[in-house]
Amino acid sequence: MLVLSIRDLSAEGKPIDVPLDPGAVHLEGEEEFTLEGGRLVGRIEKGEDKAIHFRGRLQARLGLLCGRGLEPFVKELDEDLDLFFMPRGAQPDPDEEEQEVELSDRDMVVAYYDHDRIDLGEMVREQMHLALPLRRLCGEDCRGLCPSCGVNRNTGSCDCQPTETVEDERLAPLRKIFDKGSS
Ligand SMILES: [Zn+2]
Ligand SMILES: [Zn+2]
Repeated sequence: MLVLSIRDLSAEGKPIDVPLDPGAVHLEGEEEFTLEGGRLVGRIEKGEDKAIHFRGRLQARLGLLCGRGLEPFVKELDEDLDLFFMPRGAQPDPDEEEQEVELSDRDMVVAYYDHDRIDLGEMVREQMHLALPLRRLCGEDCRGLCPSCGVNRNTGSCDCQPTETVEDERLAPLRKIFDKGSS
């Protein structure tokens, strides 16, 4: 299970080793990707003031559509995670300010949890979004779709003329003038 009660956690920590499924990771309504499988492995422990520390690894296979050719492809995620969770509404003690700076220096993400429970599925979903590439291409050399007929140029070919020759009609009078000048 990815939902953990804070009461069940201790300073000794609890091992996590959970296969990921779309339900546990809250992917209902997710349009960016599908989850083809994955696993969350690590250790979760409770520190002072109900601060929770999770350290581990997220491995997942995400199904995406290529932004250029629309062909489906799989993106493998393999992320090391080192995350802190604090109870929401906990007022930072002014005396502890130094300690907080220390946390951010170590580049750790601090999230908040409610009602004494942590949903690691929620965290996993966020991590997946963070790890998605901005340009979703099945490969750097993807040739995409033909803008005229829509054939996927990676897997097929067509007889369409290169798009550069498609002319804007509004420019035709102008083009005529230049054609005259050059002849
Ligand atoms: Zn592609
Ligand atoms: Zn074509």
